[in-house]
Amino acid sequence: MSGKADPRPAGKGTTSRTRLDRGRGALGPALELVHTGRAPTRAVLTAELGVTRATAGAVAAELEALGLIRVDARPGAAAGSQGRPSHRLSVAEDGPVALAAQVHSDGFRAALVGLGGRIVATAPGCEVIDADPAKVLGSVVAAGAELLRETGRRCVGAGLAVPSAVAEPEGLALNPLHLAWPAGAPVREIFAGQVRAAGLDGPAFAANDVNLAALAEHRHGAGRGSRDLLCVATGHRGVGGALVLDGLLHSGSSGLALEVGHLAVNPDGRPCHCGGRGCLDVEADPLALLTAAGRAPGPEMSLLKQADDLIRGQYGEPDVRIAAESLIDRLGLGLAGLVNILNPDRIILGGLHRTLLEADPNRLRAVVADRSLWGRSGGVPILACTLDHNSLVGAAELAWQPVLDDPLGALA
Ligand SMILES: [Zn+2]
Repeated sequence: MSGKADPRPAGKGTTSRTRLDRGRGALGPALELVHTGRAPTRAVLTAELGVTRATAGAVAAELEALGLIRVDARPGAAAGSQGRPSHRLSVAEDGPVALAAQVHSDGFRAALVGLGGRIVATAPGCEVIDADPAKVLGSVVAAGAELLRETGRRCVGAGLAVPSAVAEPEGLALNPLHLAWPAGAPVREIFAGQVRAAGLDGPAFAANDVNLAALAEHRHGAGRGSRDLLCVATGHRGVGGALVLDGLLHSGSSGLALEVGHLAVNPDGRPCHCGGRGCLDVEADPLALLTAAGRAPGPEMSLLKQADDLIRGQYGEPDVRIAAESLIDRLGLGLAGLVNILNPDRIILGGLHRTLLEADPNRLRAVVADRSLWGRSGGVPILACTLDHNSLVGAAELAWQPVLDDPLGALA
């Protein structure tokens, strides 16, 4: 209960009005609890919201009427259990979806993503990214619109993930280094224009791909329950980072925080496109692994897939192992610096870094512990990202956010 005085005059109707307001205010938090899997039953929802059973029941019924969740009033009781089982809550499998789009150096992908981070349909496309962002974003939106037509789903909005820092509040892709796009391209505006031109409903958003991966993992994957979550990942090229604090992305004063790709981890290392030398971006990405292992990258598949396949398939070969270990050591050095500065309670790794962690978890953990003050004392858990296409799921989270904030208002 709020300690503030209610400014409304007491009188007839006030009590029912107050109950209605309170119920509406609980719709968003209730939806988020079901969306993130933290309220699998009505009993848990009641406890988490801190409301009466009747209010929780009304809130769940309203969300079901909006087509967002499913309330199973007759869940099968476990054998031998006592009493009546609580109603089970789940996201509606046939409910609305968000259109998610991702552009990376080797192509793009469109997807429809429902509540719960569930990918309903996906369409990959094109191997060569055009230098004109409007062409690429037009193609990816067209692919998403086709998926919407095929499935007949309602669209709540659209989100785009790009391999670049995205400056706020304008939504400019500042450094799309591995795409041929001009620096500072107004990607959010272009994307929103393509979404409108395709006749799709809802707002349109754009953000950095690793930021979105971190958001998705925090809500649905390896970051669940973490308070200070650090995510570091390679894309198909380069390295990115993100921080989720108390459930919110920490994006800095203008969207550009956690540009971890340009942490120097090897003073004598390769020159980096940022003007520096030995940055994580060029010392610990898929191309760095292939080069260190003496493998010429082929044109037939993405660099990330080639690097992943090399570690998974040939880790026993000395040249591959030595190359992987040098990347692990440099990544560990970068992570240790971040641990000292940020004091995260969990680190999750994606892309090639996930594969490196899985290949030799003890080596990476030892380097981080050895090089960081807090890592040595407490040991920061380092885990692999668990979601497929986490940047796409995160892009959908952007589009879902207005619905999570106010389900009635957003869907009315
Ligand atoms: Zn750099």
